[in-house]
Amino acid sequence: MIELKNIHKHFKTNHVLKGINLEVNKGDVLVIIGPSGSGKTTLLRCINYLERPDEGQISVDGFSVQGKHPSKHDILTLRRKTAMVFQHYNLFKNKTVLENVMEGLVVAKKMTKSEAKEISLALLEKVGLAEKVNDYPSQLSGGQQQRVGIARALALNPSVILFDEPTSALDPEMVGEVLAIIKQIASEGITMVIVTHEIDFARDAANRVVFMDDGVIVEQGHPQEVLVQPKHERLKQFLKRLV
Ligand code: ATP
Repeated sequence: MIELKNIHKHFKTNHVLKGINLEVNKGDVLVIIGPSGSGKTTLLRCINYLERPDEGQISVDGFSVQGKHPSKHDILTLRRKTAMVFQHYNLFKNKTVLENVMEGLVVAKKMTKSEAKEISLALLEKVGLAEKVNDYPSQLSGGQQQRVGIARALALNPSVILFDEPTSALDPEMVGEVLAIIKQIASEGITMVIVTHEIDFARDAANRVVFMDDGVIVEQGHPQEVLVQPKHERLKQFLKRLV
């Protein structure tokens, strides 16, 4: 479903991704963990070319893009197979909750407004925001805004949803409600790649955990193996620092 081959990325002289190979299977809930600065977010953003790898190949659902200068058309095709949930929600401030979810359906999927509205209302109900559809983002809590972000991603019906630290901007009391929604969606078989510092969530919801350090994948596997019986010293140290 997703295949990353030999992904390298530099920011000037900083070699941030050092030849990453990774496969994500359909229905996987894959959580990427690792120390700050290890390259997790950069890797996630390479999957939909929000960051352009210097080298390597990304395939999503059989469509491949490679190198630093693919065509705009190829990037757009790749992006339309993915949806991203951002740390800071990235909602349109001047649009209502409903309009935020409808936007991608009308603009990218060329649906009629009434079709888009029907789908969006159902998804907003699913994430527990039926009462808030006509509010503006500024009237919502952080947790509610992130749930709009999740509904918006689901609306696009992508092959994979990419979550970039979806709870790290939230007040602690709102983290649980957002993780619960993500877990619920995960149980429906939607393929997800999630960068997070929430190790308990990784243990609970992931079927695969990838540990990155210094631009490489150091260890990966089932959460039980990676989080409970880590093999590599760097992972052991990382987990020890969290307790
Ligand atoms: P965190 O857990 O703190 O979010 P991370 O593992 O997601 O960290 P990245 O955000 O991918 O790490 O950053 C990896 C490295 O790349 C860091 O050294 C960071 O400073 C650098 N970096 C990331 N984005 C940029 C950018 N747009 N320009 C320059 N350097 C960047």
